[in-house]
Amino acid sequence: MKPSIFITRKIPEIAVQMLREQCEVEMWDKEDIPVPVEILREKVKTVDGLYCMLSDSINKEMMEEAQNLKVISNLAVGYNNIDIQAASEKGIMVTNTPGVLNEATADLTFSLLMATARRIPEASDFVRNGEWKSWSPMLLTGQDVFGATIGIIGMGRIGEAVARRAKGFNMNILYHNRSRKEQAEKELGATYVSLEELLAKSDFVVLLAPFTEETKNLIAKKELEQMKETSILINVARGGMVNESDLYDALVQKKIWAAGLDVFEQEPVPLDHPLLTLPNVVVLPHIGSASIKTRITMSEVAASNMLQALNGQVPSDLVNTNILTR
Ligand code: NAP
Repeated sequence: MKPSIFITRKIPEIAVQMLREQCEVEMWDKEDIPVPVEILREKVKTVDGLYCMLSDSINKEMMEEAQNLKVISNLAVGYNNIDIQAASEKGIMVTNTPGVLNEATADLTFSLLMATARRIPEASDFVRNGEWKSWSPMLLTGQDVFGATIGIIGMGRIGEAVARRAKGFNMNILYHNRSRKEQAEKELGATYVSLEELLAKSDFVVLLAPFTEETKNLIAKKELEQMKETSILINVARGGMVNESDLYDALVQKKIWAAGLDVFEQEPVPLDHPLLTLPNVVVLPHIGSASIKTRITMSEVAASNMLQALNGQVPSDLVNTNILTR
């Protein structure tokens, strides 16, 4: 009998085909509506493999009810939507899609950085709303990117890809990780600094660390107060890393100059969220890796991880490697 799989959202056909060749596949195929949690829970009870999205919360209770679940393949590099400890306790493999999205996510990070620095969405609205009456020397002026200082919190795969772009813009590159990365220092001319120094010196503070207990609320009132009044915060990591109410206050009180956000504590961000009222906040709907080519590749990688696990192999992108020693 073929193993059974549930896919929680419509994914590119090429990945569905890969899975159909070896598995019984059921897919939630409504493009705009996520699978209701009750249906997801029912499916998890019986399937061998779950192919899920970062927007699906896969919690301990769900996993405890699973009778056959061997693998959860997440279509993302971040996996904070899955209770990894619970998965490991149940011997369920969890996989992600690292690496293949580095360049697309770095492109988006840099686009957001530039759009925020040079007020692109605001300027575009200005034209469309008929407010453009004449040219004026200080009209819609922003911050320089070329030659500025960028501080990357989380100099990992994507952080390094962002640093390569920053190098092309002649930027001074600072970074902060829990551990130093001498290879990145050598290749990119990046300087390792404490979080405090990074916040105090950077014109752009860019978040690219994973969302964990340690990085939850990493940027709150105290950290925002350490930043320069002309600095810009860019969050392409996960919403929970920034205290949004403190960010709102810092922006209103002009403690920092602007923010570019691809991610939010609650997604989709509620339309009445105070941050959406501020012109110096550029917002995106969590599209870091959303290039056509990258999303297709990610869907194939997630399918391949799923098949490896169901075929009794160690998946290429196993997250909870600790289960191998069990
Ligand atoms: P990665 O290669 O694992 O890099 C993460 C980096 O963060 C590592 O260098 C790590 O270094 C550092 N880090 C971990 N904990 C830290 C902490 N407490 N303080 C400071 N630095 C810390 O991951 P990646 O593939 O670059 O992806 C990074 C994150 O980006 C993902 O987890 C995901 O949430 C997010 N992402 C978002 C999008 C989007 O669409 N917006 C797309 C892709 C990825 P140390 O271990 O030395 O600390």
